[in-house]
Amino acid sequence: MPRYATVYPLVTTRALARPFTYLADGAGKGSVVSVPLGRSRRRGVVVDVGDEAPAGIEPVPVEAVVDEVPPVLVDLALWVADYYGSTPGRALELIAPLKRKRRQERPRPGEGLVGEAEPPELTEPQRDALGRITQALDAGGGHFLLYGQTASGKTEVYLQACAAALERGRGAIVLVPEIALTPQTLGRFRARFGDQVALLHSGLTEAERRDERERIAAGEAPVVVGARSAIFAPLRDVGVICVDEEHDSSYKQESDPRYDARTVAAKRAALEGAVALYGSATPRPESWHQLERLELGGRLGGSLPPVRVVDLRREAGYPLSAPLLEELGAVEERGGRAILLLNRRGIAPALHCRACGTTLRCPLCDVALVLHGDERLRCHHCGHSEAEPSACPTCGSAELARIGAGTQRLERELTSKLPSLVPIRLDADTTQKPEALAAALRRFAETDRAVLLGTQMVAKGHHFAGVSLAAVIDADTSLGVPDFRADERTFQLLTQLAGRSGRDAPGRVLIQTFQPDSRPVELAARHDVERFLTGEVERRRELSYPPFQHLVRVLVAGPEAAPVTRALEEIRAGLPDAEILGPAPLFRVRGRHRAQLVVKTDEPRRVAARAGWLLAAAAPAMRRAGLTAVVDVDPQAL
Ligand code: ADP
Ligand code: ZN
Ligand code: ZN
Repeated sequence: MPRYATVYPLVTTRALARPFTYLADGAGKGSVVSVPLGRSRRRGVVVDVGDEAPAGIEPVPVEAVVDEVPPVLVDLALWVADYYGSTPGRALELIAPLKRKRRQERPRPGEGLVGEAEPPELTEPQRDALGRITQALDAGGGHFLLYGQTASGKTEVYLQACAAALERGRGAIVLVPEIALTPQTLGRFRARFGDQVALLHSGLTEAERRDERERIAAGEAPVVVGARSAIFAPLRDVGVICVDEEHDSSYKQESDPRYDARTVAAKRAALEGAVALYGSATPRPESWHQLERLELGGRLGGSLPPVRVVDLRREAGYPLSAPLLEELGAVEERGGRAILLLNRRGIAPALHCRACGTTLRCPLCDVALVLHGDERLRCHHCGHSEAEPSACPTCGSAELARIGAGTQRLERELTSKLPSLVPIRLDADTTQKPEALAAALRRFAETDRAVLLGTQMVAKGHHFAGVSLAAVIDADTSLGVPDFRADERTFQLLTQLAGRSGRDAPGRVLIQTFQPDSRPVELAARHDVERFLTGEVERRRELSYPPFQHLVRVLVAGPEAAPVTRALEEIRAGLPDAEILGPAPLFRVRGRHRAQLVVKTDEPRRVAARAGWLLAAAAPAMRRAGLTAVVDVDPQAL
């Protein structure tokens, strides 16, 4: 008897978002097949196989089965399409990736790094955590927050949880924010599990990715370490999923399908009866409130370094205040390493006319132009650049003041004031070339009296020996952002950076700020994570923010401001009863006016589906007006 396969073609247009029926010909749920479609041929994924052909169509055979993915991933992808308001075709592409056109080659990070040996015995909190994890593993799964300061032994718990899954004949997935920034973590997994580890990340070449996927599918590599998309690895029977640095915003994909790998991890764990383990020293308030907590406590072999807050309203010398110069002088004198965080690139974040008050702005975006070291002004949103003018374009005055400091200026000041320290700058400008990031990190690890300075990259998971000073040049940069997560982001960044200092020897931490009394600064200085999170959870409860309500964001952009607002007002009128904020204008980007609605709701799928339906109905008119729209479920940045 013939069997019929329901196939979604893997396409990027929404127009072909419906399934087609073919004669199955050996294909089953999860088969990646080549099918005839119109006059061409396409790849597709079989989502179902049945005995009945739909009425009125004459199914033709699938041409070939080119790959097989675990059937549970089909369910996961269809769930992603539904929850995030995407299409099945696009979501299925996550589990059966097409050839990537743009290829970005990077050296394989973590190669040659020696991992640490397994400790002779676990600490008591580690043992307790692992006991709870294996218990859940044998009882059909569970979701946990692994909370502990940097160097409290979280990675060791991930390693042993993965080993417990392997002992039971099951696989493990370990998600890390960005592989290039966490080579040590990868090194430790390689040292412990050898060739059983597969690595999946965006820097692999097409051939490397295929090799890794084949090793995973064949069961040769039951431990998968990777960035966000590794949550869709073709492992059969996953027992443990670890999400390292679970607070990191890179887990959210900012293009369709706009999935959050942390939410998908929870779903995959539920589908497979696995344990999902979210680890961080600065967890999200969502995780703090919702997950069973496994606490590791403080640092192994040492306490957290004391933090000194420098009040920039009283100290001159920005970006290098006298107290900071003194600390850097100590590094220059006694040796060691320092890390300096300044979350802005360039020389100066703005040029301002002292005579008429004009700030030089991007002609296409509503943001100030940033002065760079090559004497050009650049827009950090659209890439526009122009030569630095010698006079104000509005009034002709030559009195143009450089406001604030960026990483390039910091580097210059450091070189002129402390010439025997070796500055190593890490930001989007210095890491454009693929090998540059790995090379910079290696140089820092090998150089005495080196100073790693840069944007938030410097605060992420590196474990460097001999860091005796970590300092934040300007803790206020992220505080003024109009996002309900601004405080949380600031707190995480400060706490993460503080954790880089003194891992192996007494260290110092210094925070420069214009707002020493702000909650995130004050509590980060005291390492008081729990009080910060308790306060955040309460604030969110009062304001009905996540985890108490979901958010759905609808963003519209277009060449004129009025039609953008009007389109959003129409959508607003058609949405179900809920608390809706907006339409609120956002700053212009690339000449496009933007505005958004933010809906607080218990039913994000219903709201997103309704918004998608309203947008589809308005599509012809919107196209005529040059409008584009995005629906984002559980957005991470507002
Ligand atoms: P985290 O992931 O929380 O930063 P790690 O797992 O990297 O912490 O542990 C910090 C350091 O302590 C590492 O050098 C690790 O090898 C070591 N370590 C972890 N667990 C133990 C233990 N039970 N006994 C001794 N050393 C340990
Ligand atoms: Zn002027
Ligand atoms: Zn611009």
